[in-house]
Amino acid sequence: MLLGAHISVLGGLSNAPERGRDLTCDCMQIFSKNQMQWKAKPVDLEEAEKFIENSREFKISETVVHDSYLINLGSPDKAMLKQSREAFLDEMVRARHLGVRYLIFHPGAHMGAGEQAGLKRVADSMNWVRKEFGSGGVQLVLEITAGQGTLLGNSFEQLKRIIDQLEDQKNVGVCFDTCHAYAAGYDIKTKSGYARTFDLFDDVLGIEYLKAMHLNDSKGKQGSHLDRHEQIGRGFIGTEGFRNFITDPRWDNIPMVLETPAGDKMYKQELKLLRSLAKKR
Ligand SMILES: [Zn+2]
Ligand SMILES: [Zn+2]
Repeated sequence: MLLGAHISVLGGLSNAPERGRDLTCDCMQIFSKNQMQWKAKPVDLEEAEKFIENSREFKISETVVHDSYLINLGSPDKAMLKQSREAFLDEMVRARHLGVRYLIFHPGAHMGAGEQAGLKRVADSMNWVRKEFGSGGVQLVLEITAGQGTLLGNSFEQLKRIIDQLEDQKNVGVCFDTCHAYAAGYDIKTKSGYARTFDLFDDVLGIEYLKAMHLNDSKGKQGSHLDRHEQIGRGFIGTEGFRNFITDPRWDNIPMVLETPAGDKMYKQELKLLRSLAKKR
C-alpha cells in the first residue's frame, strides 16, 4: 500500500519529504508552485536535486504533482486557453525537474460552450502540450470531477472521450478521487456498488489507466455533484466504504493521497485509521 497526503511545500520544495515522513506518508502530492498564481520562478535545479535526495532519505517512494487551480484547458476564451496551455506546459517542466511521473489535473470547464466542444478543447490542449514538451517523462493524469457547474470529466465515459482524441494515449492516465466519484453518482460505499464501479471503469477505460487516487470522504450525498471533501470516516462514504479501497490488492502500487480538510492536523490519524482497515480483513 502506498498511502500519503497532500503536503505543503512551505519554505521550499525540498522541505516536503521530511514533512510527509513526519505525517507517516509513503507517498505524497504537492503543488510545485503557488496554486493560486499564474507565474512562478522556474524550479531551482539545486532545490530540485535536494527534493529528490530528501525523498529518498525520508522514504517517500512516489510524489505526484497537482496543477494550479487557475488552469482551464477547456476554456472557450482564446486568451484564457492560451494562458492555461502555457501554464500547464510549465507545470510539466517543473514536474520533470522534480523527477515526478504523474501530473494530476482537473480536465477543465466548458463555460457554456457545451460538453462535446469542451472535451475536444481539453484533448486539443493535451495534444498541444505533449507536442511542445516531447514524449514520455511526465504522464498527464486526468482527475475525475464531481461535475459541479460546467466542469468536465465527471464520468468514465467523458474521460474516455478525451483520451480517445489524444495522439499519445500511452502517457496518460486517470486519478480516481473518491469524493468526486461518489458525488458524481458512483456507488463506492457498498461492496457490490464498489465492485460494479470498477468493473465499469475497466470496461470503459481499462483498469491500467488508473494511476493515482485521492482518498477523501464526502460532505455531499451520492450524486450530489458537490465537491466538498470531508475527513475519512466522517462523511457519507464512511469508514466501511474506504475498507473497499484499502483491501483491494489491485491498488497496492498506486499512490493514494488524502486531500482532507483538516490537513496536517489530522493526516496522521486518518492514515492510521486507513492502515487499520487493511489488518482487520
Ligand atoms: Zn482530488
Ligand atoms: Zn475536490
